[in-house]
Amino acid sequence: MTLDIKGFQKIDLLNYEPYASATIFLSKCNFHCPFCHNPELVLRHDKIKTIPELEIIDILKKRVEWYDGICITGGEPTLHDELPFFIKKIKEMNLLVKMDTNGSNYGMIEQLIKEKVVDYISMDIKAPLEKYDKVTQVKTDIDAIKKSVEIIKNSVIDYAFRTTVIPFYHKEEDMIKIGELLKGSKRFIIQQFRNNRPMLNNSFMKKEKYTLEQLEKFKKILGPYFDEVLIKNT
Ligand code: SF4
Repeated sequence: MTLDIKGFQKIDLLNYEPYASATIFLSKCNFHCPFCHNPELVLRHDKIKTIPELEIIDILKKRVEWYDGICITGGEPTLHDELPFFIKKIKEMNLLVKMDTNGSNYGMIEQLIKEKVVDYISMDIKAPLEKYDKVTQVKTDIDAIKKSVEIIKNSVIDYAFRTTVIPFYHKEEDMIKIGELLKGSKRFIIQQFRNNRPMLNNSFMKKEKYTLEQLEKFKKILGPYFDEVLIKNT
């Protein structure tokens, strides 16, 4: 069985800063966040041609000197049982591996950390726990989210938790609840909502975003809970 790879970005200087990486996009997701910028991977992945795993490995091997690492994103990468086998092939090239996840499959996260094949995990925190179903638009396994947080927080690898903040969903008091959920963690990223590009529910393109001033205010609120809080405005 090979991994269902649906996209490959040969050079990515933003996803795994300060490293030069390639990004691999995997199919499907168990959440339906209306503001998702990869709706094809979530809703219509069956219609997208799969890129053979060997083709990707071959490209990476031929240009390995270009790269410091590889980013694996989606969709939701942890839904793919084949993922550990694929990542091991990447690690054989001595490349760093960053994975994005929604935290719904703590078993896979734990396995990858234990097997020492992932160097950085970026986990989305969609909202305070009681608002998860509203944001993900599915019945979310909250215990799984909590377990993923604990596994990542207590691991030795580098990591960040990240929330895309949208006035429609996230209020000031939610920042405190998110801080309480994650307190003692290394890094938190406040991701600006990008309402200028297509998403899973395009009616969200009409939704307001917070001003930078407001994001700075959130940063102050969240500061005491983390070693580092960053705002990502891209
Ligand atoms: S934003 Fe992430 S978690 Fe949400 S639907 Fe898209 S891929 Fe899934």
